[in-house]
Amino acid sequence: MANEYLNRFRNIGIAAHIDAGKTTTTERILYYTGRTHNIGEVHEGAATMDWMAQERERGITITAAATTAHWVRHGTDYTVNIIDTPGHVDFTIEVERSMRVLDGAVAVFDSSQGVEPQSETVWRQADRYGVPRIAFANKMDKTGASFELVINDIKERLGAIPAPVQYPMGEESDFKGIIDIVRMRAYTYTNDLGTDIQEHDIPEQFMDKVQEMRAQLIEAAAEVDEEVMMMYLEGEEPSVEQIVAALRKGTIAQKIFPVLCGSALKNKGVQLLLDAVIDYLPSPLEVPAIKGTTEEGGSKEFPADDAGDLAALAFKIMSDPYVGRLTFVRIYSGTMKSGSYVQNTTKGKRERVGRLLKMHANQREEVQELKAGELGAVIGLKDAGTGNTLIGEDDEFVALESIEVPEPVITLAIEPKTKADQERMGIGLSKLAEEDPTFRVATDPESGQTTIAGMGELHLEILVDRLKREHKVEANVGAPQVAYRETITKHVEVEGKFVRQSGGRGQYGHVKIKAEPLPPGTGFQFENAVVGGTVPKEYIAPAQ
Ligand code: GDP
Repeated sequence: MANEYLNRFRNIGIAAHIDAGKTTTTERILYYTGRTHNIGEVHEGAATMDWMAQERERGITITAAATTAHWVRHGTDYTVNIIDTPGHVDFTIEVERSMRVLDGAVAVFDSSQGVEPQSETVWRQADRYGVPRIAFANKMDKTGASFELVINDIKERLGAIPAPVQYPMGEESDFKGIIDIVRMRAYTYTNDLGTDIQEHDIPEQFMDKVQEMRAQLIEAAAEVDEEVMMMYLEGEEPSVEQIVAALRKGTIAQKIFPVLCGSALKNKGVQLLLDAVIDYLPSPLEVPAIKGTTEEGGSKEFPADDAGDLAALAFKIMSDPYVGRLTFVRIYSGTMKSGSYVQNTTKGKRERVGRLLKMHANQREEVQELKAGELGAVIGLKDAGTGNTLIGEDDEFVALESIEVPEPVITLAIEPKTKADQERMGIGLSKLAEEDPTFRVATDPESGQTTIAGMGELHLEILVDRLKREHKVEANVGAPQVAYRETITKHVEVEGKFVRQSGGRGQYGHVKIKAEPLPPGTGFQFENAVVGGTVPKEYIAPAQ
């Protein structure tokens, strides 16, 4: 098969409530996938999961970069692309944009807390995007940890069907190891460094419980797989391979959710989690093909095929201290080559792809091309924004299903401390708004004052902080106010059509522009366009 390599790809996100241990789990995964040297070193160097200094200081993850790692399973080398998803509620848009480009996710829970409110939000987002998931009950070593609690919460709070494929040997300070219920093997960790793991038979004390759980697991597998169902009805025991295949099928169909346990901090269960990522989460060939809308309003599908038409989605823009603007892309179909030209159909622009990078935990790898199923960063795209569609230079217009951008909920006035800061503030705010579609800049028509709007106080605080760090702008901010829809739509509404500049194919989509006037470069929010995202003013023609 031409696209055989795609079977060895897993594009996953790690989603969690803040403090559930997402960063620790990600660090450990990157450590075990061999791209970092020491645990804890993930934060050093240029290409790390948490890029910005303030993230480290605040202990939160804002960015959604993609990191490429490798894991060998049954002698096969798999590529695991980890798409970072933030855990803080203020950055829901970041979660949304990562959900759009990943094929599967690991939901990390704090076993002493069960399913927390924010985990629920993230879970619902994954539901909306149809993302298959496995659950990782982390912090099994912590006081109050309970595997049972996580399983019950998944059932009751999330209304999902958990399929525990592991059972912990001890909990809290007694947590010694993990039982693999599918293969009926036990793993004891003799230290907290994960350097010595002993595989052995299941200790007698856990046997009854594990057998009961295995029977339930086979029942769950039978529910989603006819072959296993037949065997189940005839009282035959399915093989390990049959159980795994059935669970995989059920997981990809989001009918069941395998549950694993461990302690990322104590290096217990992370390798088994990686095995489960390979075993249960889909390859790009096993998820529905992304759809696009053609010029005539028809639908076009892009199955994962590196020889197909190029279809890529920009999902994250970052300013990099070394190379400037980085556009993270997911290639759905075709191959993007360095030095080639692409059409950005959202912006109506032809753009040149400069260099292409794959990001690893502690290094960047320059590549000549990115193929269907791959994720990487492009240097050189000047105009691509989050959610923009990139297609081949000569291909027919198509707009990919995009990323939903929620309305800002909070607004505040901002003014430069000195006159010298004035100009830099305008430029800085434009840049930040370009990177983050939930961050809006406007000028109050009555007072002439600049206001910024975002998803929460912390969101705006971080942006003001970035304005200071990255653009050297000292600014005073007013008290936060709730950004009711009325205050935004109070500004002049302009109706128009989105006209693409290049290609000369005329108009596309009917749009309503809100919040006019805006400082240059901040763009306009579509209200009812076929294409989502923002569009610069020069592309808007008046309604006829
Ligand atoms: P994030 O906010 O989800 O990224 O969570 P972090 O990975 O930053 O972890 C939050 C806190 O929980 C940190 O203090 C970690 O050291 C701690 N932590 C993470 N994993 C574990 C674990 O397995 N056991 C225990 N006891 N603490 C953990």
